[in-house]
This record gives sequence, C-alpha cells and structure tokens, in this order.
Amino acid sequence: MKRKKVIIAVIMAAFLLMGGISIVLFFSYDSILNIIERWQLDDLQSPGKGDVVLLVAPHPDDEALSSRHLVQQALANGAKVKLLMVTNGDGFIEATKMYYKKAKISPEQCREYALMRQQETIAAAATMGIPREDILFLGFPDGGIEAMMHENWSQDRPYTNPYTMYAQAEYANAFRLGVSYTGVGIVGVLASLLQEIQPNVIIMPHPNDHHPDHRSVNAFMQLAAAQAGVEDFQTMLYLVHHGSWPTPWVRDAKMHLVPPAAFQNIDTKWRALDLSPEATINKGKTIELYKSQTMVLGLLMYAFERRNELFGELPPAKMLSGALEEGPIMQSRYIVLHDPPDDNIGQYRHPDADIVRVYAMAIDEGGMRLVAETNTKEEVAREWRLFWFFIEDGKFRRLEIEIDGGVSKVLEDEKVVSAEHLKVDFIDNHIDLLIPADILGAYPSYYIMVSSFRNGALIDTTAMRELISEEGLAWQ
Ligand SMILES: [Zn+2]
Repeated sequence: MKRKKVIIAVIMAAFLLMGGISIVLFFSYDSILNIIERWQLDDLQSPGKGDVVLLVAPHPDDEALSSRHLVQQALANGAKVKLLMVTNGDGFIEATKMYYKKAKISPEQCREYALMRQQETIAAAATMGIPREDILFLGFPDGGIEAMMHENWSQDRPYTNPYTMYAQAEYANAFRLGVSYTGVGIVGVLASLLQEIQPNVIIMPHPNDHHPDHRSVNAFMQLAAAQAGVEDFQTMLYLVHHGSWPTPWVRDAKMHLVPPAAFQNIDTKWRALDLSPEATINKGKTIELYKSQTMVLGLLMYAFERRNELFGELPPAKMLSGALEEGPIMQSRYIVLHDPPDDNIGQYRHPDADIVRVYAMAIDEGGMRLVAETNTKEEVAREWRLFWFFIEDGKFRRLEIEIDGGVSKVLEDEKVVSAEHLKVDFIDNHIDLLIPADILGAYPSYYIMVSSFRNGALIDTTAMRELISEEGLAWQ
C-alpha cells in the first residue's frame, strides 16, 4: 500500500514538473525568440568625429523614441548633430483635448499646444546633448504631410491645417517663415537645409512606417536630397508606427527592439545599437519628459525603452532595361520594390489592394513597363495612383498616373496631360502598365511610389524608391 502511494506521488510530481516546464517554455518562448532575433541583426556603428548627423523627426518625440542613444553616442564620439523637427505636433487633436480637458479646441489652443510640445522636445534634446540652437523647427502641418504629396503638391494649392488654420509656416520660431504647406514648399526648404548642413549621416523615418507623416517625411527627404544634389550620405531609417509593433506594448527594459515580422523578406537591412542597462533607464527618463504624449500614447512610447535601438538601410533599386516584350516581367530580376504583406495601412483587410511587389523595366526605345502585384489570387483592385519624380534642369518633374477601373489619366503637376497612349491591364492579382516614352521620357534615375485605393480611400502604399537604370546615362 505504501509503495503504491509512493508511485502515485512520483507520477504526480513528474506531471507537475512537465506542466511547470511547459508553462515556463510557453512564457519564455517570446523572450527566447526576441534574443534570437537580436542575434540575427548586425551591430550598428555610431557616428563619430568628423561626421555631420541630421536627425529628422516628423513630430516632437520621434527623435527620442528612435535615436536617443545613437545621438548621445555620436556626440560623445565627437560628431555634430542637428535635429530637424518637421511638424510641431499641432494636429493630434485627441491629445490636445485631453491636455486642455475640453471637448472643443480653438485654433489658438492648437498653436499654443504646439509650442508646448516644442518645449518638451527642447528639454528632451538637452538630455541627449543637443542644445536649443541645433534644433530647427520647420512648422509644417501635423497630419498633413502626405496630403502635400498627394493633393497639395503645387505652390498654388497649399494644404490648410484644419486645427491651427495655418496654410504656411507661421510659427514665429519657424526655420523659414512663410513656406507654403505644399510638396514644392517642403522639398525646397529641405533641399536648402541639406545644402547648408551637408550631412553625411541622415537619420529619418522608414518609408514603410504606417503613420502617413512619417513615410511622407521620408519621401520628401529623398526628393530634397536629389534636388540639393546631396548624395553622399549614409541613411539610418527608423520605424515608430507599424500595427502593434514594437510587440508587445509593454515597458520592459530587458527586451530587444527587433524588426516586425512583416519586414523579414523585404529589402531593408536592419542593424542594432545596444544600450547599457543605465542607458536604457536614461532613455525611459527622456521619454517621460514628453508628458503630453505619454498620457495618450504611453504604452507605445515606453515600448521603445529597450536594450537596443534599431536602424535600417534601403538602398536604391537597380532597374534592368530591355526590349519591349509581350511576355510578363514578373520575374525576380525585375523586382524593384518589396512591400510588407498584410500592411493595408488603413487597417482594412483588402488583399486585392495589399501591394507586395513592384516590377519595373526600362524599355530600350524609351518609356517604362511597370507591374504592381497584390497579396491575393483574386482579381486585383481597380483604383491606383502611381507617382514618378525625376530631376530635369535642377527641378523636379512630378508625373502621376490615376487609374480608376478602365479610365486612366496622366497628370503632370496636377494637370491632366495625356491619357491616350497609356496601356493598363488588370490581370489576375496585378496591374500591368506601359508608359510610353513621350509621356515618361528617359532619365538615369526615377523615384517611384505606388498606392492602391478603394472608393477613394488609401489602402496601401509602397515606399518611395529610387530606381537607377543599370545602364545609367547610356540608357538616354
Ligand atoms: Zn511621429
């Protein structure tokens, strides 16, 4: 009888032990994965003596979330750092209401709130080692940067911030007063700043960030660099907004910051800069200084208080050229752009508009063949906008193709120029475009961006990507 009891006790103990082990494994699976994912990343070298670093932030707080430690290291190593604040965060109406504890907010309050957010940045930047005189506030509209790319490109069509009612940089401390809220305006001011500062390291948002201001700041910086002729710089791309990333939204200083799963098979090469435990704590303290934001977005913001910062690199894509063929160009050598899957940025699930790949070919006779592929076997979405930017005589040409079902238009600087020769096919899960030479011309380098829509609402958009013709000038 006694012996039987012992056997039962042993069996029960074994079960408890197994249960315990599986519970431990279950809970530590994510942390083990987190460590493995960090191991897979290369280390980032922080800038040093002789380097001129430009840190570009769309909103007051992005600078610290992304780069607090990198900047501090760079300054300690003897680098120069300038902080460029694109907006004053004057379009975050929910946070503004919470700040004033009011249901209705006046334009004056939105402007006052923006100046208060500047003060938070000035205080936070001081903890990073950046003095006030090295911070440039541009005063562009929070929440309006993508509109300046899509609808308000031309000088005569400025965007009006619906909260401050400004349509140009009007804050008294704006870096350049009176710059219109237009694509042309922002590219111009960024280009002149780049010429003045001549940075060899640019830290800026990743073009696949889900926040429209973030991805559009990236696009405008690329265009500005091309317009300024500033090309010889290293780019460090940071991500702030991407669904529920950085997963999970908890303040856990023991975790590493690793790229979202959706970025595994796209073109970005990620690197990590490790923080000492003390540096991680200091980063958390700096984040605490953005009180107006932590009261609304604290969970997201403190998820950046981790053991490393994360920066990506996305070089231009090479575009092959060839004879105009009838056959499909959906082959890996023609891919110029991978877009993260399941990133319908409007958070709607429309696989027929979820862009995953873009293929392009420069045609020997001039013009371009372009295919955009979506994440489905179903019929492809029918509403698209495609943008091409290229430099001609030191100025940008902006060409846009709007496709709405069977109707397509070509616009240059927002005016319809032609629709006659444009050939658009909807085949299975992709659109296939042929843009003839008389519309596109032939240039050694283009910037392209492809966006899909549904009932006029943006569903997915690719990064702004520079395409370099492999033959370069010979192609002309
Ligand atoms: Zn932001």
